[in-house]
Amino acid sequence: MASALSRGILFAERIIARKSAQVVSSAAPLVGIQQKRHLNVHEHVSFSVLKKSGIPVPGFGVASSAEEAVEIANQLDSTDVVVKAQVLAGGRGKGYFKGGLKGGVKLVYSAEEAGEIAGKMIGDLLVTKQTGEKGIPCNRVLVCERKFPRREFYLAIMMERSFAGPVIIASAQGGVNIEDVAAESPEAIIKVPIDIVEGITDEKAKQIAVALGLESRLEETVSVVKSLYNAFINFDASMIEINPYAEDTYGKMYALDAKMRFDDNAEFRQKEIFDERDWSQEDAKEVEAARYNLNYIALDGSIGCLVNGAGLAMATMDIIKLHGGSPANFLDVGGGASAEQVKEAFKIITADPHVHAILVNIFGGIMRCDVIAQGVIAAAEELSLRIPIVVRLQGTNVDDAKALIAMSNLRILPCDNLDDAAKMVVKLSNIVQMAKAANVDVKFELPF
Ligand code: ADP
Ligand code: MG
Repeated sequence: MASALSRGILFAERIIARKSAQVVSSAAPLVGIQQKRHLNVHEHVSFSVLKKSGIPVPGFGVASSAEEAVEIANQLDSTDVVVKAQVLAGGRGKGYFKGGLKGGVKLVYSAEEAGEIAGKMIGDLLVTKQTGEKGIPCNRVLVCERKFPRREFYLAIMMERSFAGPVIIASAQGGVNIEDVAAESPEAIIKVPIDIVEGITDEKAKQIAVALGLESRLEETVSVVKSLYNAFINFDASMIEINPYAEDTYGKMYALDAKMRFDDNAEFRQKEIFDERDWSQEDAKEVEAARYNLNYIALDGSIGCLVNGAGLAMATMDIIKLHGGSPANFLDVGGGASAEQVKEAFKIITADPHVHAILVNIFGGIMRCDVIAQGVIAAAEELSLRIPIVVRLQGTNVDDAKALIAMSNLRILPCDNLDDAAKMVVKLSNIVQMAKAANVDVKFELPF
């Protein structure tokens, strides 16, 4: 599933899902990844948050053009500069641009060269392990001082259900090969759960400093770990990942890369951060759905699913699969959608050329079935839908809904039983698919 939800998964989440990593002082069981809605921000935003929180970062600026990159590079203290693609995906260092440039993190030796590289990155698509073949657009670059890392560490904090609170994850073997470390020597990565009421204690911070092998810089590391925890709490983050936290050849410590994620529920009090949301990095249909307060997840099958509630969505997808079909998406209109929202939901579903049939499966509780029916009818009329729609409604005002559909004279196929509805939509989608393959124009145009 190449959605914004899966694309943004950070290394820390995979680590937490691995049972083999070493857990320090917790009996909490480890379970898998849970999906959440959250804001991912670019590295330059993360750098600003770290700086404000007292964690050192290299001098930096963000550029939208080659000229701006030259300007920023000229203002930095060093002529050795790093140009970094600002994309919401990890593994940039080992990625490549569609235009041919190798690497989303480039070391350069002059301001002019920084401009040249920035010019190549901006406007191109970067492909990394996390983006899939289609890549992700790079619209801006971070221009920052080059440091000379002698040792690279991994330091992260995330909210984790299996610990019922925050957990700090740390390793002395950070850097671009952290995935290999996790696979080959999971004991090199430690997890320290933090009691949210107690907060971060000196003892826990020291434990982390020692695990990182930074006893010789105990005070400084304890302070950084505490700042990390405080940033996490003060900014309502659900995850902060610093990789690498590095020691340079002059013996100074810096965060050279930072990825942050924030809890969507905190939007009202973290306005400055939420203003930095970069919609260009998210799936266009998911963005459109979010605008209408709908939850849309793109999948790769051929049956569009319009449902209310995540539980019903899962059940709908399961039953489609059971009857040999494959869902193209799930679109959850939630508990209290209006007819207008339902219409928008249809627009989003039908914009996908792979959708060959639609199953509407609504259980009317707070959501009234007649409102859904009005939305479906309005959408079918306004969008001149050419694909079959199977509608299974149950619950509040279901008789009114059925009457509305019957009176509309549209060929919307009502079905009371979910099993029958699923069988029917799978059959219809197969017919449309075969017809398309044979270049036969089967019309389900409404009205017939
Ligand atoms: P990603 O994790 O997306 O691949 P990073 O920002 O971690 O990107 O960069 C990859 C590697 O490049 C880092 O592990 C580090 O070794 C090096 N690097 C990144 N920023 C700097 C910098 N400012 N100075 C020197 N080396 C850097
Ligand atoms: Mg990194």
